[in-house]
Amino acid sequence: MSKVEVPITDNHMHLNPRRGLGLRPIEDFIRFGGRNIVLVNLLCRHYGLSYLTPQSMKRVLEIHLKLIENLRQRFPSLNIYAVVGPHPAELTELLRAGFSLSSARRFMIKAIDIAGLVIQQGMAIALGEVGRPHYPVPKDVWDASNEILAYAFMKASRLGKPVQIHMETPDIESLNEIADMAERGGLPVNKVIIHHSPPLIRAMKEVGVIPSITAKEQLMLKALKEGTRFLLESDYLDDPRRPGAVVSPRVIPRKVNNLIERGLMSLEQAWHVNVHLPEKIYGVKFH
Ligand SMILES: [Zn+2]
Repeated sequence: MSKVEVPITDNHMHLNPRRGLGLRPIEDFIRFGGRNIVLVNLLCRHYGLSYLTPQSMKRVLEIHLKLIENLRQRFPSLNIYAVVGPHPAELTELLRAGFSLSSARRFMIKAIDIAGLVIQQGMAIALGEVGRPHYPVPKDVWDASNEILAYAFMKASRLGKPVQIHMETPDIESLNEIADMAERGGLPVNKVIIHHSPPLIRAMKEVGVIPSITAKEQLMLKALKEGTRFLLESDYLDDPRRPGAVVSPRVIPRKVNNLIERGLMSLEQAWHVNVHLPEKIYGVKFH
């Protein structure tokens, strides 16, 4: 019976209505017990837009929100929520396209403002994924990325909404740095969600930020040994060129139910991770 009991959540998924593989992954997610999806917009180029400008950010958000509207009509059993913002790699894309660092930085800040308006209007539940590149960049680009992130924290704090962070592989030092930055921006650290996080559940509880881990068995078991203060994500990219890049959304309900059946996760733990914790963080319904 456990299969239908826990409303499973994917805390970080992407879907690309322009170039993606269609809705089959969503149908599978639902069939295996998936109930809640936090859907994050992709980079401009994924939608066929060359790079981030205020216009293309608006276009991306239109496409993303329209997709969510369609999904809600088509799959009424789902709770589906938007997370919106400029991906940190957009800065690199702008520099590659020939923009100066100061122009690129200005576009990123403007994009955060545009995402902020969508959040303010109640059409998205968090800002993200924002942060800094996961690949090495020159010092000035790194500094600009941090300034943009600091601005995102300030914006989220004013909106009273969480932030989903994309960053380099986190360690305690970098997580503390991110937490300090959030606090300086006025954002409570427990509204800072680390996307693609390692399963450092205890350490991250001390820092205060929230880990969102990929639904892979080893990561989940490691996380469960340290508590239930974490979220689960597929980080599904919906990119035909990288079909197996992360995991398919259906993996989350399958894995959670499988761990429950094997006695490796209790129903109570599953409810906490999939429902109670996300409800507390985002302030919306996850069941
Ligand atoms: Zn992502």
